Amino acid sequence: MNTPQDVLRDVFGYHGFRGFQGEVIEHICTGGDAIVLMPTGGGKSLCYQIPALLRAGTGVVVSPLIALMQDQVDALAQLGIRAAFLNSTQTLAERTEVERAYRDGRLDLLYLSPERLSIPTTQALLQRGKVALFAIDEAHCVSQWGHDFRPEYLQLDMLASEWPGIPRVALTATATAATRTEIRERLRLDSARQFVASFNRPNIRYRITSKNSEESQLVNFIRDEHMGESGIVYTMTRKRSETLAERLRQQNITALAYHAGLSAQQRRTTQGRFLREDGIVVVATIAFGMGIDKPDVRFVAHVDLPKSIEGYYQETGRAGRDGEPADAWLTYGLADVVNMRSLIAGSPDERNQARLLDAMLALCETDGCRRVELLRYFGEDIAPCGNCDTCLEPPVVVDVTLAAQKLLSTVVRLEQREQRFGAGQIIDILRGHTTTRTQQWHHETLSTWGIGADLSDMQWRSVVRRLLAAGDLGIGPHDTLRVTASGWEVMRGNRDVRVRETVLARKAKTATAKPKPRPSDISDADPALFEALRAWRAETAKAGKIPAYVVFHDSTLREIAARRPSSLVELATVSGIGQTKLDRYGEAILAVVHPPTPTS
Ligand code: ADP
Ligand code: ZN
Repeated sequence: MNTPQDVLRDVFGYHGFRGFQGEVIEHICTGGDAIVLMPTGGGKSLCYQIPALLRAGTGVVVSPLIALMQDQVDALAQLGIRAAFLNSTQTLAERTEVERAYRDGRLDLLYLSPERLSIPTTQALLQRGKVALFAIDEAHCVSQWGHDFRPEYLQLDMLASEWPGIPRVALTATATAATRTEIRERLRLDSARQFVASFNRPNIRYRITSKNSEESQLVNFIRDEHMGESGIVYTMTRKRSETLAERLRQQNITALAYHAGLSAQQRRTTQGRFLREDGIVVVATIAFGMGIDKPDVRFVAHVDLPKSIEGYYQETGRAGRDGEPADAWLTYGLADVVNMRSLIAGSPDERNQARLLDAMLALCETDGCRRVELLRYFGEDIAPCGNCDTCLEPPVVVDVTLAAQKLLSTVVRLEQREQRFGAGQIIDILRGHTTTRTQQWHHETLSTWGIGADLSDMQWRSVVRRLLAAGDLGIGPHDTLRVTASGWEVMRGNRDVRVRETVLARKAKTATAKPKPRPSDISDADPALFEALRAWRAETAKAGKIPAYVVFHDSTLREIAARRPSSLVELATVSGIGQTKLDRYGEAILAVVHPPTPTS
């Protein structure tokens, strides 16, 4: 009788479970329901894949990620696992073949979209075979208050009544306490055991900088720290994804745009290149990346402010799934805050969206450890991390209460004249900067005219940003500013305002590339052998029409290059080499490690 540990070793080639993987697997194998919360890259898939292999029948995986099903199934085939999918991209013949394989009990895993599962004929099909378990991936999609709501997920509650007694496991990398409750209620997982991993991703370095010229900031960041590496740049608009990609290409960075305005074919090609080739940077709107299981994405950059911490954490979580050092880099400025606030203003869901945005802004403006702030949002307390910008270069905090009061009273004085203006005009007034617009409105007659000449335009912008972030200023029609109730508290001197000094004093500081810590086994790896193994992998992947990392991860190749195994038995002890891959590639690898010496 196989144990979970046997399957982990023989099929996946791994030597130990991560965190509570083993417990989840036991629990599901004995028929229990589970809610599994693990960060991206934490190892959720094994939690249902191993029980699917151990229990009689087929594990049915519900996933919204149709575009990725082919790759997932290919990767499983590499491990000798019999997996298939049913979705709208298939021909009738292909579907019929998969359906037959399921009915005949020839599948370990079957991937379905929630739409497909809601079709009665699909349910009838599943009833005609044996379901080992249901895995509901990206389970946060059931949350109406979350950032990824999918109505089809609401129908998944029928699994409870249609398949009583079949274990169900819901998995997600996005979960505040509220989302967890929703998952439990809406999927009717009343008695499910909950497994919550730490959401910390220690290998990701978080950095949030203030924007001055985002394009060159981005170019410098990539050129100084990530040239030739894979990364994702997130932006809000289609047009900007095009222009930024073009700008990066001018700097010899292989960059491709990805957004909903491209044809399905173009998007597939871009995603395919990103997965298969090394060193591609995709400049994308949020449409890109959900569920992309590429382990060696070295950075995720945001050039626009994300709408929520959930979104930000999920997007940045796509970096460094392989556990090696990776960067999450965000640049934001006053305009982002104004745009987001006015985008939200008046929307039917305004209060909820404002709450999500406020948390995101608090993260940007904090003078404490970014990771502490992030994880607190997910209900976790940690000590300062030592691997974020504030930990590495502690910002000096400056009290700007007086400046804030000057600014707020200017807004109030204008309101008394029944005038409303945006940040630019108010800063001009404070700095005593005459323009045609200040002349037109006689703003030099205001009592606050010129009382803020000691601060630069840039410094004033950071004060406005801080006040907007804290909700002391609100946004009115046409991006005009108004003083809120909490802003009045500041004016009355009941509350202080502080900003990070990095913004005020060290303006336009150029990015300094920092040497990155690398796991120790890397230094032992023979670089020439590692490159030879990579070349072998590239050829093998190309021949098999699969992504290189599906053949082996970098970490596996590195371990081979360090240990130079000389037999199949020895090779089998390398992490990431299971039985099927050993059979398939073992001899070829040994030939790369110990090239046959030419005779004659
Ligand atoms: P998630 O779905 O949680 O984002 P995955 O299931 O894709 O994460 O796992 C992330 C990576 O970690 C994968 O490459 C997987 O093979 C690897 N992994 C998972 N569990 C283990 C383990 N116990 N030992 C070594 N590697 C693991
Ligand atoms: Zn930190």
